[in-house]
Amino acid sequence: MEESEKKCTKCGGGANGYKCDMCGVEAEKHDEQHACGGDHCMAKCAACNQAETKCGC
Ligand SMILES: [Zn+2]
Ligand SMILES: [Zn+2]
Ligand SMILES: [Zn+2]
Repeated sequence: MEESEKKCTKCGGGANGYKCDMCGVEAEKHDEQHACGGDHCMAKCAACNQAETKCGC
């Protein structure tokens, strides 16, 4: 399966699902209804497994 739209905006690398930058919960799909707010359910960097805003790559 290839979903080219999933991308870490911090390092520009690939993203492996989604992760909340607040509580750290991971999701396969973007969750607009997430408890911390849909905006916090963001791409998870495939290289470091952090939410994209926390990506340190
Ligand atoms: Zn990244
Ligand atoms: Zn959260
Ligand atoms: Zn990263």
